[in-house]
Amino acid sequence: MLDLLITRATLPDGRSNMSVAVQAGRITEVTQGLQAPAHEIVDAQGMLLSSHFVDPHFHMDATLSYGLPRVNQSGTLLEGIALWGELKPLLTQEALVERALAYCDGAVAKGLLAIRSHVDVCDPRLLAVDALLEVKKQVAPYIELQLVAFPQDGVLRGPRGPQQHLDTLKRALDKGVDVVGGIPHFERTMADGALSVKLLCELAAERGLPVDMHCDESDDPHSRHVETLAFETQRLGLQGRVTGSHLTSMHSMDNYYVSKLIPLMAEAQLHVVANPLINITLQGRHDSYPKRRGMTRVPELLAAGINVAFGHDCVMDPWYALGSGDMLEVAHMGLHVGQMTSQTAMRQCFDAVTVNAARVMGLQGYGLQAGCKADFVLLQARDPVEAIRLRATRLQVFKAGRLIAQTPAATSSLNLPGRPAQTSWMHGRPAGT
Ligand SMILES: [Zn+2]
Repeated sequence: MLDLLITRATLPDGRSNMSVAVQAGRITEVTQGLQAPAHEIVDAQGMLLSSHFVDPHFHMDATLSYGLPRVNQSGTLLEGIALWGELKPLLTQEALVERALAYCDGAVAKGLLAIRSHVDVCDPRLLAVDALLEVKKQVAPYIELQLVAFPQDGVLRGPRGPQQHLDTLKRALDKGVDVVGGIPHFERTMADGALSVKLLCELAAERGLPVDMHCDESDDPHSRHVETLAFETQRLGLQGRVTGSHLTSMHSMDNYYVSKLIPLMAEAQLHVVANPLINITLQGRHDSYPKRRGMTRVPELLAAGINVAFGHDCVMDPWYALGSGDMLEVAHMGLHVGQMTSQTAMRQCFDAVTVNAARVMGLQGYGLQAGCKADFVLLQARDPVEAIRLRATRLQVFKAGRLIAQTPAATSSLNLPGRPAQTSWMHGRPAGT
């Protein structure tokens, strides 16, 4: 007997009336119309069953700290960085763990079961590192949490010289942090930025680790660190293991230069993570009008065959007062900022917070095929575009075939003469689906 059988589900690829059979935490069969005995049977009633959401770029050490020790009055990146500097000495491990666990509770409710979080490694106490390693252990039964050693203040900008932050970053890796991070555009000079990319990629190659750098997160059209990242990736044979996050300067770069850069990135098999909610709010702040959007060139990167995912980046922290762990909200913003309104592009936005993000993180057993982990979410929507449009309710969230969260359908009762008694905004299903 099966442990779980989902029937009458629609899958993101458009197949309908699909059954998904689960045994011992894995999907054993995905086929149309299968009926079989199971301990639990869930009738999806035509709703969308998707692999769980994946956030490939987040800052869990800062999340839910909004208002501590004060709110960001201007809402700018620079005041956010200053605020984080004020907050850091006040952090305690207990409070960090508590906030991160609370975030993970909310993430599960939103069907978000894998998160790559950067963690600041410039604090010699490595307090946030210890806290998030503890969180990683605690949430392991329900969330795959990957940690990136992120030198927020610049890896070569330690007050006691260029070795200081590099040493603490290495200590963080020794403790079990999974990925080498960086922030080349925040180093003192362009040359130092390039040197940081070289040193950090060499460190990753030495230790057999992936790389994920905050790279060119500015409006500077001359920022060139992603070029260096692509070069070092190839030089050190790190193809497929390196991610360039943000890359907002690409928005402002000269078109001719970008026509050379994108093929170099494709050749190095870089992954790209854009963070639409944060990029659209933090970039372009020195502009009057027209104001740049600051998001990297997502459609063009995808067209070149580069794996592009969307990250949430921030939720209620010194940089961003909003957010709710909802990757459909992230996809919704990415779609708008990138003007990704073609049928194909709208579906690509759904992929950017599911399958593409899973590729960035290198998740094993992710997907809706036989043999994959039975980690999925049933949405109150009939296709990926409707899911994005409605930021659809996560009706049921499953981990290893076990129901771990559920939310009642979003349906409003109406009391209007001559009109239906209920509405849920699920209108206008396209013909033939
Ligand atoms: Zn970030």
